[in-house]
Amino acid sequence: MKKTILSTFIFASFNVFAFAQTTIKPDLQISKMVDEVSAKNIEATVRKLVSFKSRNTLSDTTSKTTGIGAARNWIKAEMERYAAASGGRMKVEFDTFTQPAGGRIDKPTVLKNVLAILKGTDPNDTRIYMVSGHYDSRVNDVMNANAFEPGAVDDASGTALSMELARVMATKSFPATIIFMTVAGEEQGLNGSTNVAKRAKAENWNVDAMLNNDIVGNTYGMETGLKDNRSIRVFSDGVPSVAAKDEKAIAGLIALGGENDSPSRQLARYTKEIGERYVAQLDVKLIYRRDRYLRGGDQTPFLLQGFTAVRFTEMNEDFNRQHQDVRKEKGIDYGDVPDAADYDYTQKIARMNLSVLANLALAPAEPQNVGVITSGLTNKTALKWEAPKAGKKPAGYYVLMRETTSPYWEKKFFVTDTKATLDYSKDNYFFAVQSVDELGHESLPVVPKPVR
Ligand SMILES: [Zn+2]
Repeated sequence: MKKTILSTFIFASFNVFAFAQTTIKPDLQISKMVDEVSAKNIEATVRKLVSFKSRNTLSDTTSKTTGIGAARNWIKAEMERYAAASGGRMKVEFDTFTQPAGGRIDKPTVLKNVLAILKGTDPNDTRIYMVSGHYDSRVNDVMNANAFEPGAVDDASGTALSMELARVMATKSFPATIIFMTVAGEEQGLNGSTNVAKRAKAENWNVDAMLNNDIVGNTYGMETGLKDNRSIRVFSDGVPSVAAKDEKAIAGLIALGGENDSPSRQLARYTKEIGERYVAQLDVKLIYRRDRYLRGGDQTPFLLQGFTAVRFTEMNEDFNRQHQDVRKEKGIDYGDVPDAADYDYTQKIARMNLSVLANLALAPAEPQNVGVITSGLTNKTALKWEAPKAGKKPAGYYVLMRETTSPYWEKKFFVTDTKATLDYSKDNYFFAVQSVDELGHESLPVVPKPVR
């Protein structure tokens, strides 16, 4: 080990170094990007999106000033403005398709998602990281295309977040590709995200993680009187949808207690660790669920296609505002209007998303074929893995460890080798391995499979 980010070491046996989490230094390059994310820009974008009056997926597509057509054209033009500063590396495109009639779509409807693709600088690195918000909106009657449907928090907030990250990151370089997405048709049945997720699967996109931001702009809970501008919920599912269809995979989860270690849950833990490393006064709350009761989101089509995805949503949702006709009734204001949103809060959540995307896209790829050796009965834990096949070579690896009852990784052991033996029994702890570069950018952790 020549160069290192660690300021203190505790020497442990077997060529393993252990240290406390506090010795990790934030990368100043990421801190600088985090600072560039602006509440003022986010607010301006939300107010501009509200100015189109309706962004209902079934609304007008011909007007230049109102309806979803004007909204998506504006989003695309705005993203192209950001892309102009990328030296040709960011390309903006419509992902266009016709959603057939059925369910909440009353006639075949052309939908257009907007994708701003920041190409990675390493041609051998195929990884893709995605951030998304939905730009369509609704009121009480989801089929009502012509009402005033401001959708400021649901989900102009997530749309503005995705766009602000595109603006800040367009001028920076990352070995992996980042896609800044805004989708339509969420309220009609996750139509836009379903199209992108299926396309990603069919075209073999190497999507390593997808971050969905839906309802990330309200901090005051009308019902409870609680104000919370510190917390953000990250929803992740415990049993991957693809494993649920595989009897052998389920048997493995049952035998070894793997139901709390899905790739999505690793991503959720990662967002907490990295987000709280770079953003002050932030508490990322892991919710062990795919989504809330009676609700769904754009992470789900990605999960169904076997990708790793999570959803971010504010702590206190105001249901008097979401999906409501704008009105006043018995002294209560209804409707998702921009004056009720907290843009400093959306800025905080945007900064968290940026730190996670940047850290992932700068990190080496995950270690491959991570295994825990089970050939004999022992009270130690022997792990082995292979270096990532493509992209930059890791400076080393972190072996992560936690109590079986702990929600978060508790110890990190740094090794430069592709194997490690720990003086802790594999029967009593959970383990994972992540790649790390010389600046401390970590890949997502990979949970070992039993090997001989
Ligand atoms: Zn929504």
